Amino acid sequence: MDSLLQTDIKFLPGVGPRRGEMLLNELGVSTFEDLLRHYPYKYTDRTKFYSISEIQAEESFIQIRGKVVTLEMVGKRPKQRLTARFEDSSGSIELIWFQGIKWIQQSVKLGVEYVIFGKPALYNGKYSIMHPEMEESSKAEQVAYPYTYQAAYPTTEKMKSNFLTSRVIHKLEYQLLQKVYGKIPETLPAGLLNTLKFPGINEAILNVHFPKDQDSLKRARYRLKFEEFFMIQLGLLRQKNWKNRKIKGFVFPRIGNLFNRFYAENLPFEMTGAQKRVMREIRKDLGSGLQMNRLLQGDVGSGKTLVAMLSMLIALDNGFQACLMAPTEILAQQHYQTFSRMLANLPIQVKLLTGSSKNSHRETLHEELREGELDILIGTHALIEDTVQFKNLGLVVIDEQHRFGVAQRARLWEKADGILPHILVMTATPIPRTLAMTLYGDLDISVIDELPPGRKPIRTVHYYDSKRLVVYEFLRKQVALGRQIYIVYPLIQESEKLDFKNLYDGYESITRAFPAPEYAVSVLHGQMKPEEKAKAMDYFVKGITKIMVATTVIEVGVDVPNASVMMIESVERFGLSQLHQLRGRVGRGADQSFCILMSGFKLSKEAKIRIETMTRTNDGFEIAEVDMKLRGPGDLEGTQQSGVPFNLSIANLLTDTKILEHARRVAQEVLEQDPLLESEENKILVQQLAIKKREIKDWSRIS
Ligand code: ADP
Ligand code: MG
Repeated sequence: MDSLLQTDIKFLPGVGPRRGEMLLNELGVSTFEDLLRHYPYKYTDRTKFYSISEIQAEESFIQIRGKVVTLEMVGKRPKQRLTARFEDSSGSIELIWFQGIKWIQQSVKLGVEYVIFGKPALYNGKYSIMHPEMEESSKAEQVAYPYTYQAAYPTTEKMKSNFLTSRVIHKLEYQLLQKVYGKIPETLPAGLLNTLKFPGINEAILNVHFPKDQDSLKRARYRLKFEEFFMIQLGLLRQKNWKNRKIKGFVFPRIGNLFNRFYAENLPFEMTGAQKRVMREIRKDLGSGLQMNRLLQGDVGSGKTLVAMLSMLIALDNGFQACLMAPTEILAQQHYQTFSRMLANLPIQVKLLTGSSKNSHRETLHEELREGELDILIGTHALIEDTVQFKNLGLVVIDEQHRFGVAQRARLWEKADGILPHILVMTATPIPRTLAMTLYGDLDISVIDELPPGRKPIRTVHYYDSKRLVVYEFLRKQVALGRQIYIVYPLIQESEKLDFKNLYDGYESITRAFPAPEYAVSVLHGQMKPEEKAKAMDYFVKGITKIMVATTVIEVGVDVPNASVMMIESVERFGLSQLHQLRGRVGRGADQSFCILMSGFKLSKEAKIRIETMTRTNDGFEIAEVDMKLRGPGDLEGTQQSGVPFNLSIANLLTDTKILEHARRVAQEVLEQDPLLESEENKILVQQLAIKKREIKDWSRIS
């Protein structure tokens, strides 16, 4: 590691121990290198000088050259202010100060040429600039570093109140670059820099802080962003190569009896084009001799379960066992029922294992698994936590991956030695492509981008609580038509007690508005015993109850095609992807389905955007994009648990998609030439990866 760049920041002239501590606490900057990598968040163009007569409406920051002709104190304390008339040859403008008045009054010289910089505002029909930056022209020309595109740096309130402003940081960067420019070790191989026509690291860092001109700035930023993405992709893809070397996959060459019979006799509908395409991709993997690691993305209701089932039949046809893991007990149960029903006429043994399975059941099941008498095991994550041993597990399907931590996925791999089962991971909610590429960069990705035919788009409407009676009337009509209804209440762990009150108050008012025996209402929440949950679900599936009052336990996966209305209470308390998941519980049959969002009058700006998005679109990918914009990628549902395992300091997953794709392509090319980065040329990359690896929370577990 380079020792100059690792110098403690407090040794930089102008920093010292106190500022050093503040830089560390507020920005995490502890070394020279950290400060170099504390990038500006915006730039202002200081190449252009305006003349006063050119100023129009409300411009952003502008720069003017001229003289102060009068200086005057106006008003009385505490509303006192200092105003100046500032002139150039084209006209005049007012400058105003509310703070630091004394000092300014003493130091500003009349009749001397100044360069001022600030944001003009229109007030009482006249332009003025509040608290401009001012510098005598003669001095402005002498400053050591050029004002071209002036960088502005992220700071905190605490820093500002201690005079560590963006401007001061700018000066510190200058000090630092004086010391280290030319000595920053290159981080990309020369050949790569050449073919990509990138500036060297010294040029790039200099220009990102002190741009020579717009073009140099653009090139510098591109290189730095590219490099950030490139290292992540390179790490992921190298890991994939390494895994492929070390770990072989079972080969499933045959499409046999089970698959063919199911296809001919049991398939209740024609597969969609997208389902067929994904099956082809999976079949190719299963025949390749490499272990499959595939992520299947598909919007809610796109028919991922069928893809899972067909893939599992291929495993069985080749003499292997398969298992399916679901995030909740309800969902595991439901999958178990679906599989048992759809495979009933075939010679296949299917069993269920969850946290609440009885010991006696467990024991027989373990034995049957070991002996190979059991073909398909369906369960919750208890499946991998348990001591289950398969005779020959060939395929693992993980449904609704969001709910599984990355650690759990990794544990699967630890379970096997030598040859690993194939793995198919299915996501609950689409995640934006860029995020998928980074989070799951070492998985191959398949997308089902088509819904089964005949589905009518769900109609989503928003009502304020005051319209409740109108909504109830609508629900009655739906029940009269034979449809079923979900009513969902928020449940957030921090305030569980309160939430249960919501749920039970809700349940009471619903049973009052929809009294027995005409209406039968079920209730379902996470704190119920597994048998009670199963019973409530079963009544609803069979249509014995018409209304299901529930918490978000029904959010994921649940499939009751006759349910056509999803009513969500206190919608402002739900996240977007959660709302989309909930809405996905309806619209599964041929009937017109509805999603009703209920809220109070007081809504935050974000809640309004979420509601607007839900009522505007049914497209899960679009919703995922909005969600990522609202929350930032690190906070996306599902990723909190698995954790976005890296920090991006200049690149942006939302706006730099093109750069990310470019970086991934180049990473692939580099690894095609040199799969494990063993060449002399690529040594530098291996070093960089090692450094990154230390920075990244837990690289080895991204997989
Ligand atoms: P998800 O992708 O959300 O897991 P499911 O697998 O639960 O979706 O499928 C949703 C519903 O669509 C199920 O009732 C399933 O039987 C049905 N389905 C799946 N594929 C098709 C198809 N090709 N044609 C018609 N219905 C289908
Ligand atoms: Mg599903």
